[in-house]
Amino acid sequence: MLTKEQYKQVFRQRLLALAGTGLDEASTYEKYAALASLVRDHIGQHWVDTTRRYDVEKQKQVYYFSIEFLPGRLLDSNLRSLGLRDLWIDVLAELGIDYQELADAEHDASLGNGGLGRLASCFLESMASLGLPGHGCGIRYTYGLFEQSIINDMQIEKPDTWLKDLNIWEYRKPNKAVEVRFGAPLGVVKAVPYDIPLIGYENSTVNTLRLWSAEVQDTSGLSYSSLAPDDYRKLLEYKNWVESISQILYPDDRYEEGRILRLVQEYFLVSAGLQSIVRHIRRKQGTDLSTLADRVAVHINDTHPALAIPELMRILLDEEGMGWDEAWRITTRTISYTNHTVLPEALEKWPVSEVQSLLPRIYEIIHEINERFCAELWQHYPGEWGRIAAMAVIADGFVKMAHLAVAGSYSVNGVAALHSSILQKDLLHLFYQHTPGKFNNKTNGITHRRWLLGANPGLADLITDTLGPGWLHQPAMLKNLQAHAEDAAFQEKVAAIKTERKQQLARLINETYHVALDCRSIFDVHIKRIHAYKRQLLNVLRIMELYNRLRDNPNLDVLPRTFLFAGKAAPGYYLAKKIIQLINVLARKVNADKTIKDKIKIVFLENYGVTLAERIIPAADVSEQISTAGKEASGTSNMKFMLNGAITVGTLDGANVEIREAVGEDNIIIFGLTAGEAAECYRTGRCNPLPIYQQDERVRQCVNQLIDGSLPVIGDEFKPLYDYLLQPSGHFLELQDFAAYVEAQQTIDQLFRDERQRWKMAITNIAQAGRFSSDYTVKEYADGIWHIRPSYFRG
Ligand SMILES: *Cc1c(COP(=O)(O)O)cnc(C)c1O
Repeated sequence: MLTKEQYKQVFRQRLLALAGTGLDEASTYEKYAALASLVRDHIGQHWVDTTRRYDVEKQKQVYYFSIEFLPGRLLDSNLRSLGLRDLWIDVLAELGIDYQELADAEHDASLGNGGLGRLASCFLESMASLGLPGHGCGIRYTYGLFEQSIINDMQIEKPDTWLKDLNIWEYRKPNKAVEVRFGAPLGVVKAVPYDIPLIGYENSTVNTLRLWSAEVQDTSGLSYSSLAPDDYRKLLEYKNWVESISQILYPDDRYEEGRILRLVQEYFLVSAGLQSIVRHIRRKQGTDLSTLADRVAVHINDTHPALAIPELMRILLDEEGMGWDEAWRITTRTISYTNHTVLPEALEKWPVSEVQSLLPRIYEIIHEINERFCAELWQHYPGEWGRIAAMAVIADGFVKMAHLAVAGSYSVNGVAALHSSILQKDLLHLFYQHTPGKFNNKTNGITHRRWLLGANPGLADLITDTLGPGWLHQPAMLKNLQAHAEDAAFQEKVAAIKTERKQQLARLINETYHVALDCRSIFDVHIKRIHAYKRQLLNVLRIMELYNRLRDNPNLDVLPRTFLFAGKAAPGYYLAKKIIQLINVLARKVNADKTIKDKIKIVFLENYGVTLAERIIPAADVSEQISTAGKEASGTSNMKFMLNGAITVGTLDGANVEIREAVGEDNIIIFGLTAGEAAECYRTGRCNPLPIYQQDERVRQCVNQLIDGSLPVIGDEFKPLYDYLLQPSGHFLELQDFAAYVEAQQTIDQLFRDERQRWKMAITNIAQAGRFSSDYTVKEYADGIWHIRPSYFRG
């Protein structure tokens, strides 16, 4: 163990080596990089040891394939996991450096759009913290999700240049590169892995997130001087094309554009990932792949990596020389699949012609999979042409990726109880009838270490003081807080922590947006991707309704509220961008209105991502989870909010259903149509919003205000939203749920007047949030799907 003086020396030396500069001259980023690089030193040996242990013990390992990962910043969580955080805060302080400032210099790795990528990162953290042999496999996008700013009320997208400075956490492994083959004329692409260590919390386990980057094959055989000018141009064009593969993350959440480059990315990911797994197995455990399924589990996060099925078949058939039946037996015992959505526009399908020309061999295999699958169905359902056509992997000129994923895997799961039951009863019900044993539920989870310990250290300290530190490894222990839910002194401490976080956020908002917030007001928060089904528009309508009442009567007896929004819209999603504009326009009007006595304020925070979420969620009093019932597969921010003591206002959708079970109906505000009622509404066509518009004066007033000049915009900016809300179908039942939503908010207003009641609810939410830790989710995957065990028992 070094002394503090020695640590200071070590820091100076690293800074000098890395940046060629002394303390006085170094930039904040350089100081951050020096610290991060020292943290890296501590990881190396654990990483090597973990990898060796898995190999020596011949542990079955799981590879989690995902087109997106959303890890957030890593310095703070890595320091905590290694138990070095307090030490370094001290050492830096003695050097006159503010640790937090360094931590804030890290670029937020945003290689994902939202929930799906964040889930993958929570799972990786939990697997490492449980000592489970589990790794991530993804793409190293040069540009992550675009950076959002708001100009003239509207979203502007800028490239996310997260790699412009040295990325300390990644290790380029050129000797582990593999070749990915596309059909002519694209040819061979080199896939180079960049490994990022995944550090378990206080357990010395270090797993691997392997991200692949596309590069041109070695061109040293070609001498530039010998190339004709046209060849040189072609060479550069080819290089550009290859590098475009891992250049950008598609900025769509739950929407598939069907762009050919996306298909290229998907194959690039699975081919590189599977080849490297197979190579590793052969090197460490011998060349016989007949027992592959006992040695690795490959999980596909949604259908984006579903080409793993034909790609593994290709490797086994063409490279291993196996027969079809054996290869199929192995493949369908190796791959498992999670479905994330029932929205039709999000279900992937690729035109046969495109798959065929881009990936001829893979298409042949998919074709054969389909032939055999349909033949098998014919055995079970002779003569039922309709049923077989509806289940086919290839139909109507498209490859249906969800069908491929179900046919080629041994486990299919949804991500919350309601979602899994909708899969079984509706979206995939023919598949469920055929192979019910494949289907199961794994309700999503979040890592309480990032979302409580990291994001809300004040609350974490209070919990540890109250319960001891056991909850960090066993989050179910949070339940013991229930005994303190009505304890006035404990309530006051929780309330003080909430106030402090609200003040911090208010400071940030005042500095950035010059809006002064009242920290005694209710912080009512709606942060997530902007999407019609998530119904930010419903939230806006009820704010307009409240505003109208306040305009009529400035002395109206309502508790002051601060409405916070954040979220990105896909650049091509017109309606979602209009919603962002509407929020900002309304905010301008309301925030400037002196007549309503500062009773309400609205702020849209730019550039939502993991780091911003970590700042906002601990400051939230109310969590808005108001998707149309049946449409949000699970949601995970709902869990982050409850863990931080916010009260959910939500529909009976996704994991909200399970949150209600956990906290009891007195500790959550549920409103609106159920999934069954919403489905019925759509099915019978009885979802015309016009009668509601005609009968409910409040609705009519708010909807009309979108177009009647009430809002400070020139022209018909919000006519598209007006039309959307009133169209007979195709909307998300905003008006159907309006009255119930307004009433739910009045319930919140009443409940928050009784401080004792309100903090009892908040503490109950924290106490019951343990079950939503991804530690438990991952354990269920490990036991029920992957059949892997921890290789290392702590203690
Ligand atoms: C948790 C999280 C999400 C998912 O939020 P939902 O409200 O469940 O859709 C999306 N983006 C980020 C940055 C997150 O941290």
